[in-house]
Amino acid sequence: AEFPSRLSFNLAAQSDVNITDIRLCYTVDRASFAQVTSEVYIEFAPDTTVDVSWALEMVKIGGLPPGSSVDYWWVVEDASGGRIETAPSRVQFDDNRHSWHSLTEGEVTIYWYKGNDSFAREIMLSAQQALARLAEDTGAELEKPVKLYIYASAQDLRGAMIYPQEWTGGVAFTRYGIIAIGIASDNLDWGKRAIAHELTHLVIHQMTLNPYNDLPTWLDEGLAMHTEGALELGYTAYLNEAIAEGSLISVRSLSSPFSAYTEQSL
Ligand SMILES: [Zn+2]
Repeated sequence: AEFPSRLSFNLAAQSDVNITDIRLCYTVDRASFAQVTSEVYIEFAPDTTVDVSWALEMVKIGGLPPGSSVDYWWVVEDASGGRIETAPSRVQFDDNRHSWHSLTEGEVTIYWYKGNDSFAREIMLSAQQALARLAEDTGAELEKPVKLYIYASAQDLRGAMIYPQEWTGGVAFTRYGIIAIGIASDNLDWGKRAIAHELTHLVIHQMTLNPYNDLPTWLDEGLAMHTEGALELGYTAYLNEAIAEGSLISVRSLSSPFSAYTEQSL
């Protein structure tokens, strides 16, 4: 694996007669309602001994988060009509550019590569507190394990993404149960809030996953900000200003999928 750009698959096969057809089948492990299997026809010159490889280019699929998994198997046919399908294997797409440590408590595993054990324990404590707060306030709890990847800076985090946004500080890959976040040691307070925020997105996604629609963005974001703790001063100022001006946005317009209030919704 060359994280984050590509995941390579290799096969060496041998037969008494020419091998004529090789296909790679794979499926990405993520929450969905229809299991999608991709099938790739490998181009090669027919021979009795073949050595083939194929790479899943992440630019084509928008990238996969660190720690995500892909199940794959091969289907090989030869000129005499022989056909072999290998048993599925699972490969984990790890960000092997860093040496990760891990710490697990309940459904949460924290991975980090910079900072000592107490740095990780402090993050774990605040993650568990955020989950407890969310459970108490809304009854929502984690149903499946989540992985939390702590990068040492926002810059490192962006280096782990195929299409990073300038403002990316933390990302919840809700379908994968994975959070990636950049937390420098002097930025721990922000990091704890961001983790509470992104964890809420994961819990909400696990609880509300259905084939028909998503929770409205304002509610998803509102709950995530609620779990962070007290509203930050900057937001309080915006809110007070909006109340004073009478420019609060109605729930009806917030619920519109075409909400034009990017500037106002922050
Ligand atoms: Zn959010």
